[in-house]
Amino acid sequence: MVPIVRGEGAWLFDADGQRYLDGISSWWVNLFGHANPRIAAALADQAGRLEHVIFAGFTHEPALRLAEELVRVTPEGLNRVFYGDNGSSAIEVALKMSFHYWRNLGQGEKTRFIALTGSYHGETLGALSVSDVALYRKTYAPLLLEPILVPSPDTWDAAPGETAAAVAARRLQDLRKTLQQHAGEVCAVIVEPLVQCAGGMRMYHPDYLTGLRSLCDEYNVHFIADEIAVGFGRTGTLFACEQAGSMVGGNEPGEKSASASHAPGVRPDFMCLSKGLTAGTMALSAVLTTDDVYQAFYDEYASGKAFLHSHSYTGNPLACRVALETLAIFADEPVLERNRTLAAHLARRLEPLRQHPNVADVRQTGMIAAVELVRDKATRAPFPFEERRGMRVYLHGLTRECLLRPLGNVVYFMPPYVVSESEIDHLVEVAIEGIERAVA
Ligand SMILES: *Cc1c(COP(=O)(O)O)cnc(C)c1O
Repeated sequence: MVPIVRGEGAWLFDADGQRYLDGISSWWVNLFGHANPRIAAALADQAGRLEHVIFAGFTHEPALRLAEELVRVTPEGLNRVFYGDNGSSAIEVALKMSFHYWRNLGQGEKTRFIALTGSYHGETLGALSVSDVALYRKTYAPLLLEPILVPSPDTWDAAPGETAAAVAARRLQDLRKTLQQHAGEVCAVIVEPLVQCAGGMRMYHPDYLTGLRSLCDEYNVHFIADEIAVGFGRTGTLFACEQAGSMVGGNEPGEKSASASHAPGVRPDFMCLSKGLTAGTMALSAVLTTDDVYQAFYDEYASGKAFLHSHSYTGNPLACRVALETLAIFADEPVLERNRTLAAHLARRLEPLRQHPNVADVRQTGMIAAVELVRDKATRAPFPFEERRGMRVYLHGLTRECLLRPLGNVVYFMPPYVVSESEIDHLVEVAIEGIERAVA
């Protein structure tokens, strides 16, 4: 264990004064650096006013303002906000709300969910049920719902010469077949837009999201976008769903652009946000949904129609206030523009690794880059899991002031947005040294 006592910018400092460059944003949550002064000031100010209050029958300004802001910055048509207090709880809310929506419409036979192979949506029972991480599923199998898994559009599985768009099209056909067979019992399809993070930073073409929206409309099932890891600028746009082809499905004709603040892209029926929502400072999550979904619940509490889900810390004022400050930083500073420059720099630095005999793939989507190590470049045969090659990269990183934390054989970079180009150079240099040691 490394005992951290302080953070500043992209750096963490331990009790002995040793420092570590946080190459993974402390598990993908940090955006604007550790102990960010703007965030810290907002938090301190709010702590002196109102730290928490029951969020049933009572409300408060930070929660109301944050809901308004989230509605403004997310895809058009997501007008309703439900708060949770971590990513997994946001997934639970989306799954329950989707099921309950159909039940309220008299379609209680819809009880199942479609998820992608290689997906990760959290570790509470519902979230774990729609995740496809072998070890976890195996261990807790008797407790879990059975999802319907469809093949991920992950470009790693491309046939020789096949483009990412072609893989997406092929995988949409698989999804269509599954929906033809199962739509009557399915509430929703849940995906991590563009990047399946915990599944090994596997990436796919935005056309899949466009097609997914159309198929969900066609077969009358919900589309749940889990933007917990990819939201808030990670993939190059504020939300990954924005990168899908222009307004298809989901939006009624003429519903478009009431305000210029909404970006193009697809609009899911539920969008789950957490991690970067508070720039990595407080545990908070939000589920955005449509007026259509909201209306299905609008009734007397005792009718059985009302949505039932609450946590003690729902809508915590400190967390909401920090999330508002996070959105204010996006509004005041050219964050996405600067990220584009940083991402291009990172891509240039990683380019030489493509030639490495043990590197099968170097892939990147915005501020997420990954290098996949293999035993054999020609066959892509992986290093056996037990050999823990990635662990060697991690241990080497610690000796060279870097926090890199590979996922199995995948060495990835997901730094806070305040990282400098020279800090990126250091991260990549140390990663390459670590890879050399790991594959030796
Ligand atoms: C981290 C993560 C979650 C779960 O969030 P927690 O706050 O850890 O419960 C869900 N989905 C995705 C895509 C994640 O990366």
